[in-house]
Amino acid sequence: MIPTATLGRLVTYLRVVAELETEGVLTTSSEAIAGRAHATAFQVRKDLAYCGRLGTRGSGYQVAPLARELRRALGLTRVWHVAIMGVGRLGQALADYPNFDRYDFALRAAYDADPAKVGSTVGPLVVEGLDDLAASVARHALDMAFLTVPAAAAQGAADALVAAGIRGILNFAPTVIEVPAHIRVESVDFLAGLTRLTYYVGNPPAEHDAPS
Ligand code: NAD
Repeated sequence: MIPTATLGRLVTYLRVVAELETEGVLTTSSEAIAGRAHATAFQVRKDLAYCGRLGTRGSGYQVAPLARELRRALGLTRVWHVAIMGVGRLGQALADYPNFDRYDFALRAAYDADPAKVGSTVGPLVVEGLDDLAASVARHALDMAFLTVPAAAAQGAADALVAAGIRGILNFAPTVIEVPAHIRVESVDFLAGLTRLTYYVGNPPAEHDAPS
């Protein structure tokens, strides 16, 4: 398994390398990647070692094979099917986000417990109810889901997703949810991020460290 911190950096490197590909750049270096990723060249070389033997000392990396190996290491070798669970303000915003397919994610379904929302259109999707969720998950061949329900409903909604066959949950609700060991949950907790920011903004570096 790739350590979590390394995984986060590999995602950033892929973004950088994809940019280079778009710009038509054919070869690059750990220094160039580090510059764009705000990392050190040493860190980049160490992290990229998780993707097998890629670069050659002195001549750097070929961009296309590097992008391919990063995508392979991150599991981005096929289109992953994603659903939205909870089509409120956040769920609707995610449904309207246009860039999922750049990373091989396809938004395939949206679910809500509110009967008034079932049948309405959100982004490219028609909102479905929760009756027979397992059949719908199978029909859409869903792999993972955004969990965008209120915190109080999050555990129940996560249980329903897991029972229906979803294997990964990106949890936006500000609460910890329990899932079986074979299910993966990643949390996007913007309030926790703001709280960390509060600490750093409240404890600025000494004046001689600050940029002028
Ligand atoms: P919202 O109240 O606008 O929408 C929640 C939706 O979930 C509603 O449509 C509701 O009918 C549905 N729902 C409730 N219980 C359900 C269940 N068991 N199964 C399926 N659907 C169910 O809320 P929101 O503002 O979109 O926020 C959603 C979650 O994301 C919350 O946990 C919130 O704290 C978090 N969040 C919101 C924002 C934001 O900017 N709105 C930002 C970060 C995190």
